[in-house]
Amino acid sequence: MAENSRLNRIKRSQRKTKARARLIRKNLKQRFSGWTFKATPMLTSDERQSLMESYTELLKNMVEIDSQTLNIEGVNKVQKLLAKYLTEIGFSCEWFSNPETESGDFLKAELKGQSSEFITIVAHGDTVLSPFGKTPFEFFENDHKVRGSGVIDNKGGLIVALGGLDLFLARHKPYYSIRFVSSPNEEMGSVGFLENLRACAEDSAFALGFEPSLEDGSIVESRRGNRWYNITIQGKEAHAGRSKGHHVNAAHEFAKKISLLHKLNDYKKNIAVNIGAVQGGRDRHNITCGEVHAKLDVRFASFRDREAVHKSIEKIFDKKYVKSVDGLEHADTSYEIVDDCPPFSCSKKSKNFVRKYTKIIGQIEANKCLSVKAGGAGDVNYMSKKGVVVLDGLGPKGGQMHTENEFIYLPSLVTRAEAFASFLEYVNK
Ligand SMILES: [Zn+2]
Repeated sequence: MAENSRLNRIKRSQRKTKARARLIRKNLKQRFSGWTFKATPMLTSDERQSLMESYTELLKNMVEIDSQTLNIEGVNKVQKLLAKYLTEIGFSCEWFSNPETESGDFLKAELKGQSSEFITIVAHGDTVLSPFGKTPFEFFENDHKVRGSGVIDNKGGLIVALGGLDLFLARHKPYYSIRFVSSPNEEMGSVGFLENLRACAEDSAFALGFEPSLEDGSIVESRRGNRWYNITIQGKEAHAGRSKGHHVNAAHEFAKKISLLHKLNDYKKNIAVNIGAVQGGRDRHNITCGEVHAKLDVRFASFRDREAVHKSIEKIFDKKYVKSVDGLEHADTSYEIVDDCPPFSCSKKSKNFVRKYTKIIGQIEANKCLSVKAGGAGDVNYMSKKGVVVLDGLGPKGGQMHTENEFIYLPSLVTRAEAFASFLEYVNK
Protein backbone atom coordinates (compact mmCIF):
# COMPACT_ATOMS: atom_id res chain seq x y z
CA MET A 1 0.00 0.00 0.00
CA ALA A 2 2.65 2.42 1.11
CA GLU A 3 4.57 1.43 -1.99
CA ASN A 4 1.62 2.27 -4.27
CA SER A 5 0.93 5.65 -2.78
CA ARG A 6 4.61 6.47 -3.04
CA LEU A 7 4.64 5.57 -6.71
CA ASN A 8 1.46 7.54 -7.30
CA ARG A 9 2.97 10.51 -5.60
CA ILE A 10 5.97 10.31 -7.88
CA LYS A 11 3.71 9.97 -10.89
CA ARG A 12 1.66 12.98 -9.87
CA SER A 13 4.71 15.11 -9.49
CA GLN A 14 6.27 13.78 -12.67
CA ARG A 15 4.91 16.42 -15.00
CA LYS A 16 5.65 19.17 -12.55
CA THR A 17 9.15 17.77 -12.04
CA LYS A 18 9.94 17.71 -15.73
CA ALA A 19 8.86 21.31 -16.14
CA ARG A 20 10.91 22.23 -13.11
CA ALA A 21 13.96 20.39 -14.47
CA ARG A 22 13.62 22.34 -17.72
CA LEU A 23 13.42 25.56 -15.79
CA ILE A 24 16.45 24.64 -13.73
CA ARG A 25 18.42 23.96 -16.86
CA LYS A 26 17.39 27.33 -18.26
CA ASN A 27 18.33 29.03 -15.01
CA LEU A 28 21.64 27.23 -14.90
CA LYS A 29 22.38 28.41 -18.39
CA GLN A 30 21.86 32.01 -17.33
CA ARG A 31 23.46 31.69 -13.93
CA PHE A 32 26.57 30.00 -15.22
CA SER A 33 27.18 31.64 -18.57
CA GLY A 34 30.81 32.58 -18.48
CA TRP A 35 31.21 30.51 -15.34
CA THR A 36 34.60 28.94 -14.80
CA PHE A 37 35.46 25.96 -12.68
CA LYS A 38 35.82 26.85 -9.03
CA ALA A 39 35.34 23.36 -7.65
CA THR A 40 32.28 24.53 -5.79
CA PRO A 41 28.97 22.68 -5.78
CA MET A 42 26.86 24.08 -8.56
CA LEU A 43 23.31 23.07 -7.65
CA THR A 44 21.22 24.34 -4.76
CA SER A 45 19.55 21.79 -2.50
CA ASP A 46 16.16 22.53 -4.08
CA GLU A 47 17.55 21.91 -7.53
CA ARG A 48 19.11 18.68 -6.36
CA GLN A 49 15.83 17.49 -4.87
CA SER A 50 13.96 18.27 -8.06
CA LEU A 51 16.54 16.53 -10.24
CA MET A 52 16.54 13.53 -7.93
CA GLU A 53 12.82 13.12 -8.49
CA SER A 54 13.13 13.19 -12.26
CA TYR A 55 16.23 10.95 -12.29
CA THR A 56 14.42 8.47 -10.02
CA GLU A 57 11.51 8.38 -12.43
CA LEU A 58 13.86 7.72 -15.38
CA LEU A 59 15.63 5.01 -13.40
CA LYS A 60 12.33 3.36 -12.50
CA ASN A 61 11.34 3.23 -16.20
CA MET A 62 14.62 1.53 -17.03
CA VAL A 63 14.62 -0.91 -14.11
CA GLU A 64 11.12 -2.12 -14.94
CA ILE A 65 12.33 -3.29 -18.35
CA ASP A 66 13.71 -6.82 -18.13
CA SER A 67 17.13 -6.48 -19.73
CA GLN A 68 18.82 -9.59 -18.39
CA THR A 69 21.60 -10.16 -20.96
CA LEU A 70 19.83 -13.01 -22.79
CA ASN A 71 16.55 -11.10 -23.02
CA ILE A 72 17.54 -9.50 -26.31
CA GLU A 73 14.28 -7.63 -26.84
CA GLY A 74 14.49 -6.12 -23.35
CA VAL A 75 18.14 -5.15 -23.69
CA ASN A 76 17.41 -3.42 -27.00
CA LYS A 77 14.53 -1.57 -25.35
CA VAL A 78 16.89 -0.12 -22.74
CA GLN A 79 19.49 0.68 -25.38
CA LYS A 80 16.86 2.50 -27.46
CA LEU A 81 15.63 4.46 -24.46
CA LEU A 82 19.21 5.56 -23.80
CA ALA A 83 19.62 6.49 -27.48
CA LYS A 84 16.43 8.54 -27.32
CA TYR A 85 17.74 10.63 -24.40
CA LEU A 86 21.15 11.02 -26.04
CA THR A 87 19.50 12.21 -29.27
CA GLU A 88 17.54 14.78 -27.26
CA ILE A 89 20.79 16.33 -26.02
CA GLY A 90 22.38 16.44 -29.44
CA PHE A 91 24.07 13.06 -30.01
CA SER A 92 23.93 11.04 -33.24
CA CYS A 93 23.52 7.31 -32.71
CA GLU A 94 24.98 4.36 -34.56
CA TRP A 95 24.05 0.70 -34.01
CA PHE A 96 26.11 -2.48 -34.33
CA SER A 97 24.72 -6.00 -34.35
CA ASN A 98 26.73 -8.84 -32.87
CA PRO A 99 28.99 -10.63 -35.37
CA GLU A 100 29.91 -13.47 -32.98
CA THR A 101 26.99 -14.45 -30.82
CA GLU A 102 23.36 -13.63 -30.12
CA SER A 103 22.91 -10.43 -28.14
CA GLY A 104 21.25 -7.05 -28.23
CA ASP A 105 22.78 -4.25 -30.30
CA PHE A 106 25.79 -2.17 -29.37
CA LEU A 107 25.15 1.58 -29.22
CA LYS A 108 27.71 4.20 -30.20
CA ALA A 109 26.53 7.80 -29.90
CA GLU A 110 28.68 10.81 -30.72
CA LEU A 111 28.58 14.55 -30.31
CA LYS A 112 31.17 16.63 -32.13
CA GLY A 113 33.25 19.08 -30.18
CA GLN A 114 35.99 21.46 -31.32
CA SER A 115 38.63 18.76 -31.05
CA SER A 116 38.68 15.47 -32.98
CA GLU A 117 39.78 13.78 -29.75
CA PHE A 118 37.07 12.13 -27.70
CA ILE A 119 35.95 11.71 -24.15
CA THR A 120 34.45 8.22 -24.33
CA ILE A 121 31.81 7.19 -21.82
CA VAL A 122 31.51 3.45 -21.28
CA ALA A 123 28.39 1.78 -19.85
CA HIS A 124 26.00 -1.09 -20.53
CA GLY A 125 22.29 -1.75 -20.88
CA ASP A 126 22.11 -5.40 -19.76
CA THR A 127 21.73 -6.79 -16.25
CA VAL A 128 22.66 -10.07 -14.56
CA LEU A 129 19.19 -10.65 -13.10
CA SER A 130 15.64 -10.00 -14.30
CA PRO A 131 13.44 -7.52 -12.36
CA PHE A 132 12.55 -8.79 -8.90
CA GLY A 133 8.99 -10.17 -8.89
CA LYS A 134 6.16 -7.87 -7.80
CA THR A 135 8.38 -5.07 -6.54
CA PRO A 136 10.98 -4.43 -9.23
CA PHE A 137 11.61 -0.95 -7.80
CA GLU A 138 11.27 -1.02 -4.03
CA PHE A 139 11.86 2.08 -1.90
CA PHE A 140 13.25 1.69 1.62
CA GLU A 141 15.05 3.65 4.36
CA ASN A 142 12.84 6.75 4.13
CA ASP A 143 12.80 6.55 0.35
CA HIS A 144 16.53 7.21 0.23
CA LYS A 145 17.30 3.81 -1.19
CA VAL A 146 15.78 1.60 -3.82
CA ARG A 147 16.24 -2.11 -4.33
CA GLY A 148 16.03 -3.45 -7.88
CA SER A 149 17.86 -5.39 -10.58
CA GLY A 150 20.38 -3.13 -12.27
CA VAL A 151 19.65 -0.07 -10.10
CA ILE A 152 23.37 0.55 -9.85
CA ASP A 153 24.73 -1.93 -12.39
CA ASN A 154 24.28 -0.33 -14.73
CA LYS A 155 21.01 1.54 -15.12
CA GLY A 156 21.89 4.02 -12.38
CA GLY A 157 25.21 4.50 -14.18
CA LEU A 158 23.37 5.36 -17.40
CA ILE A 159 21.31 8.00 -15.57
CA VAL A 160 24.37 9.52 -13.86
CA ALA A 161 26.20 9.76 -17.20
CA LEU A 162 23.15 11.19 -18.98
CA GLY A 163 22.44 13.63 -16.17
CA GLY A 164 26.04 14.84 -16.07
CA LEU A 165 26.12 15.35 -19.82
CA ASP A 166 22.82 17.21 -19.70
CA LEU A 167 24.04 19.57 -16.95
CA PHE A 168 27.33 20.15 -18.73
CA LEU A 169 25.90 20.70 -22.21
CA ALA A 170 23.31 23.14 -20.86
CA ARG A 171 26.12 25.55 -20.16
CA HIS A 172 29.03 24.68 -22.42
CA LYS A 173 30.12 23.97 -25.93
CA PRO A 174 32.36 20.92 -25.57
CA TYR A 175 36.00 21.22 -26.49
CA TYR A 176 36.48 17.44 -26.74
CA SER A 177 34.10 15.44 -28.87
CA ILE A 178 32.00 13.16 -26.68
CA ARG A 179 31.17 9.53 -27.34
CA PHE A 180 28.81 7.31 -25.38
CA VAL A 181 29.13 3.56 -25.89
CA SER A 182 26.73 1.10 -24.31
CA SER A 183 27.28 -2.64 -24.49
CA PRO A 184 24.28 -4.98 -24.69
CA ASN A 185 26.14 -7.93 -23.11
CA GLU A 186 28.76 -6.57 -20.70
CA GLU A 187 27.67 -9.02 -18.04
CA MET A 188 28.75 -11.80 -20.40
CA GLY A 189 32.06 -10.19 -21.37
CA SER A 190 30.81 -7.99 -24.26
CA VAL A 191 31.65 -10.88 -26.60
CA GLY A 192 31.48 -9.68 -30.21
CA PHE A 193 32.10 -6.02 -29.34
CA LEU A 194 35.62 -6.01 -27.93
CA GLU A 195 36.96 -4.63 -31.21
CA ASN A 196 34.41 -1.79 -31.07
CA LEU A 197 35.68 -0.93 -27.58
CA ARG A 198 39.35 -1.20 -28.58
CA ALA A 199 38.75 1.01 -31.61
CA CYS A 200 37.39 3.76 -29.32
CA ALA A 201 40.79 3.97 -27.62
CA GLU A 202 42.40 5.16 -30.86
CA ASP A 203 41.00 8.69 -30.75
CA SER A 204 40.15 9.05 -27.05
CA ALA A 205 41.85 11.30 -24.53
CA PHE A 206 39.62 9.96 -21.73
CA ALA A 207 37.74 6.72 -21.19
CA LEU A 208 35.25 7.10 -18.35
CA GLY A 209 33.46 4.03 -17.01
CA PHE A 210 30.08 4.34 -15.30
CA GLU A 211 30.09 1.10 -13.41
CA PRO A 212 28.85 1.73 -9.84
CA SER A 213 31.22 3.22 -7.32
CA LEU A 214 32.23 1.07 -4.38
CA GLU A 215 29.79 0.85 -1.49
CA ASP A 216 31.66 3.55 0.43
CA GLY A 217 31.56 5.82 -2.63
CA SER A 218 35.15 5.29 -3.80
CA ILE A 219 35.83 5.48 -7.52
CA VAL A 220 38.11 3.05 -9.39
CA GLU A 221 41.59 4.22 -10.40
CA SER A 222 42.83 0.93 -11.85
CA ARG A 223 41.64 -2.52 -12.79
CA ARG A 224 43.74 -5.59 -13.30
CA GLY A 225 43.76 -7.18 -16.72
CA ASN A 226 43.43 -10.87 -17.41
CA ARG A 227 44.72 -13.31 -19.98
CA TRP A 228 43.16 -16.73 -20.48
CA TYR A 229 45.21 -19.63 -21.85
CA ASN A 230 43.84 -22.94 -23.13
CA ILE A 231 46.67 -25.43 -22.64
CA THR A 232 47.10 -28.80 -24.34
CA ILE A 233 49.78 -31.27 -23.31
CA GLN A 234 50.25 -34.09 -25.78
CA GLY A 235 51.95 -37.22 -24.49
CA LYS A 236 51.72 -40.81 -25.60
CA GLU A 237 49.34 -43.26 -24.04
CA ALA A 238 49.96 -46.95 -23.47
CA HIS A 239 48.66 -49.86 -21.41
CA ALA A 240 50.00 -49.17 -17.94
CA GLY A 241 50.86 -52.81 -17.32
CA ARG A 242 52.48 -53.57 -20.64
CA SER A 243 54.43 -50.41 -21.26
CA LYS A 244 58.12 -50.81 -20.63
CA GLY A 245 58.54 -47.08 -20.53
CA HIS A 246 57.84 -46.21 -24.17
CA HIS A 247 54.83 -44.12 -23.12
CA VAL A 248 54.96 -40.41 -22.19
CA ASN A 249 52.60 -39.44 -19.40
CA ALA A 250 50.98 -36.07 -20.13
CA ALA A 251 49.53 -35.80 -16.59
CA HIS A 252 52.99 -36.16 -15.06
CA GLU A 253 54.31 -33.48 -17.37
CA PHE A 254 51.41 -31.26 -16.34
CA ALA A 255 52.01 -31.87 -12.62
CA LYS A 256 55.57 -30.61 -13.03
CA LYS A 257 54.37 -27.54 -14.91
CA ILE A 258 51.59 -26.73 -12.43
CA SER A 259 54.04 -26.58 -9.54
CA LEU A 260 56.12 -24.07 -11.52
CA LEU A 261 53.09 -22.02 -12.60
CA HIS A 262 52.03 -21.80 -8.96
CA LYS A 263 55.33 -20.13 -8.10
CA LEU A 264 54.51 -17.24 -10.46
CA ASN A 265 51.85 -15.96 -8.02
CA ASP A 266 53.02 -12.69 -6.52
CA TYR A 267 50.42 -11.05 -4.32
CA LYS A 268 52.57 -8.06 -3.56
CA LYS A 269 52.73 -7.26 -7.26
CA ASN A 270 49.08 -8.16 -7.70
CA ILE A 271 49.90 -11.05 -10.03
CA ALA A 272 47.68 -14.12 -9.83
CA VAL A 273 48.18 -17.33 -11.82
CA ASN A 274 45.50 -19.99 -11.46
CA ILE A 275 44.47 -23.17 -13.19
CA GLY A 276 40.69 -23.19 -13.31
CA ALA A 277 39.96 -26.53 -14.95
CA VAL A 278 41.80 -29.69 -15.96
CA GLN A 279 40.74 -32.60 -18.14
CA GLY A 280 42.78 -35.54 -19.32
CA GLY A 281 43.21 -39.24 -19.93
CA ARG A 282 40.53 -41.76 -20.64
CA ASP A 283 38.96 -42.08 -17.21
CA ARG A 284 40.72 -45.43 -16.79
CA HIS A 285 43.30 -46.61 -14.31
CA ASN A 286 45.23 -48.83 -16.65
CA ILE A 287 45.86 -46.48 -19.57
CA THR A 288 48.61 -43.93 -19.09
CA CYS A 289 47.43 -40.37 -19.61
CA GLY A 290 48.07 -39.37 -23.21
CA GLU A 291 46.61 -35.87 -23.29
CA VAL A 292 45.78 -33.08 -20.83
CA HIS A 293 43.69 -29.96 -21.42
CA ALA A 294 43.70 -27.12 -18.90
CA LYS A 295 42.40 -23.58 -18.55
CA LEU A 296 44.74 -21.02 -17.05
CA ASP A 297 43.72 -17.58 -15.75
CA VAL A 298 46.40 -14.92 -15.26
CA ARG A 299 45.77 -11.48 -13.64
CA PHE A 300 48.14 -8.53 -13.66
CA ALA A 301 48.14 -4.84 -12.82
CA SER A 302 50.35 -3.48 -15.61
CA PHE A 303 51.41 -4.19 -19.18
CA ARG A 304 54.94 -4.74 -17.97
CA ASP A 305 53.84 -7.44 -15.53
CA ARG A 306 51.73 -9.04 -18.21
CA GLU A 307 54.74 -9.40 -20.51
CA ALA A 308 57.00 -10.65 -17.72
CA VAL A 309 54.54 -13.32 -16.58
CA HIS A 310 53.86 -14.34 -20.15
CA LYS A 311 57.57 -14.89 -20.75
CA SER A 312 57.85 -17.05 -17.62
CA ILE A 313 54.80 -19.05 -18.65
CA GLU A 314 56.19 -19.67 -22.12
CA LYS A 315 59.43 -20.86 -20.59
CA ILE A 316 57.54 -23.35 -18.43
CA PHE A 317 55.52 -24.52 -21.45
CA ASP A 318 58.61 -24.92 -23.63
CA LYS A 319 60.65 -26.97 -21.22
CA LYS A 320 60.04 -30.74 -21.47
CA TYR A 321 60.28 -32.79 -18.31
CA VAL A 322 58.81 -36.20 -19.00
CA LYS A 323 60.40 -38.43 -21.63
CA SER A 324 60.03 -42.01 -22.84
CA VAL A 325 62.60 -44.39 -21.46
CA ASP A 326 64.72 -44.25 -24.62
CA GLY A 327 64.69 -40.46 -24.39
CA LEU A 328 63.36 -40.09 -27.92
CA GLU A 329 59.84 -39.01 -27.15
CA HIS A 330 58.53 -36.29 -24.89
CA ALA A 331 55.34 -34.43 -24.07
CA ASP A 332 54.59 -31.34 -26.14
CA THR A 333 52.80 -28.35 -24.72
CA SER A 334 50.83 -25.93 -26.86
CA TYR A 335 48.56 -23.10 -25.89
CA GLU A 336 46.07 -20.63 -27.27
CA ILE A 337 45.15 -17.26 -25.76
CA VAL A 338 41.37 -17.12 -25.75
CA ASP A 339 40.81 -13.86 -23.88
CA ASP A 340 43.16 -10.94 -23.53
CA CYS A 341 41.90 -8.05 -21.47
CA PRO A 342 44.49 -5.32 -20.87
CA PRO A 343 44.95 -3.80 -17.42
CA PHE A 344 44.27 -0.15 -16.85
CA SER A 345 46.75 1.16 -14.38
CA CYS A 346 46.95 4.52 -12.73
CA SER A 347 49.54 6.51 -14.68
CA LYS A 348 51.05 9.74 -13.43
CA LYS A 349 48.80 11.60 -15.82
CA SER A 350 45.63 9.81 -14.77
CA LYS A 351 46.52 10.15 -11.08
CA ASN A 352 45.97 13.91 -11.39
CA PHE A 353 42.53 13.40 -12.87
CA VAL A 354 41.66 10.80 -10.24
CA ARG A 355 42.57 13.35 -7.57
CA LYS A 356 40.48 16.01 -9.25
CA TYR A 357 37.46 13.77 -9.61
CA THR A 358 37.54 12.57 -5.99
CA LYS A 359 38.02 16.14 -4.83
CA ILE A 360 34.98 17.31 -6.76
CA ILE A 361 32.84 14.46 -5.38
CA GLY A 362 34.13 15.21 -1.88
CA GLN A 363 33.05 18.84 -2.17
CA ILE A 364 29.63 18.10 -3.60
CA GLU A 365 28.85 15.33 -1.12
CA ALA A 366 30.64 17.05 1.77
CA ASN A 367 32.37 13.77 2.48
CA LYS A 368 35.85 12.56 1.61
CA CYS A 369 35.90 10.41 -1.52
CA LEU A 370 38.69 7.91 -2.22
CA SER A 371 39.93 5.96 -5.21
CA VAL A 372 40.76 2.26 -5.17
CA LYS A 373 42.44 -0.43 -7.24
CA ALA A 374 39.80 -2.95 -8.31
CA GLY A 375 40.57 -6.60 -8.98
CA GLY A 376 38.11 -7.47 -11.71
CA ALA A 377 38.29 -6.28 -15.29
CA GLY A 378 35.55 -4.22 -16.99
CA ASP A 379 34.73 -2.98 -20.47
CA VAL A 380 36.76 0.13 -19.85
CA ASN A 381 39.90 -2.07 -19.68
CA TYR A 382 39.69 -2.60 -23.43
CA MET A 383 40.25 1.11 -23.90
CA SER A 384 43.41 1.06 -21.87
CA LYS A 385 46.27 2.33 -23.96
CA LYS A 386 49.23 4.62 -23.48
CA GLY A 387 48.06 8.25 -23.36
CA VAL A 388 44.41 7.49 -22.59
CA VAL A 389 43.25 8.54 -19.14
CA VAL A 390 40.99 5.77 -17.85
CA LEU A 391 38.72 6.08 -14.79
CA ASP A 392 35.88 3.83 -13.67
CA GLY A 393 33.29 3.49 -10.93
CA LEU A 394 31.85 6.90 -11.76
CA GLY A 395 28.29 5.61 -11.44
CA PRO A 396 26.05 5.91 -8.37
CA LYS A 397 26.55 4.64 -4.84
CA GLY A 398 24.90 1.48 -3.66
CA GLY A 399 25.77 -2.15 -3.17
CA GLN A 400 25.09 -5.88 -3.52
CA MET A 401 25.20 -5.78 -7.32
CA HIS A 402 24.41 -9.02 -9.16
CA THR A 403 22.24 -10.17 -6.22
CA GLU A 404 18.56 -9.86 -5.32
CA ASN A 405 19.54 -7.22 -2.77
CA GLU A 406 21.10 -4.81 -5.26
CA PHE A 407 20.32 -1.30 -4.05
CA ILE A 408 21.06 2.31 -4.90
CA TYR A 409 21.49 5.30 -2.64
CA LEU A 410 19.23 7.70 -4.58
CA PRO A 411 20.86 11.08 -3.75
CA SER A 412 24.03 9.81 -5.42
CA LEU A 413 22.24 9.87 -8.79
CA VAL A 414 22.38 13.65 -8.60
CA THR A 415 25.65 14.20 -6.75
CA ARG A 416 27.57 11.89 -9.09
CA ALA A 417 25.92 13.47 -12.16
CA GLU A 418 26.88 16.87 -10.81
CA ALA A 419 30.44 15.69 -10.16
CA PHE A 420 30.64 14.34 -13.71
CA ALA A 421 29.42 17.68 -15.10
CA SER A 422 32.02 19.54 -13.02
CA PHE A 423 34.73 17.19 -14.17
CA LEU A 424 33.76 17.73 -17.81
CA GLU A 425 33.87 21.41 -17.15
CA TYR A 426 37.33 21.09 -15.65
CA VAL A 427 38.79 19.20 -18.63
CA ASN A 428 36.94 21.42 -21.10
CA LYS A 429 39.25 24.33 -20.50
ZN1 LIG B 1 28.28 -3.51 -14.82
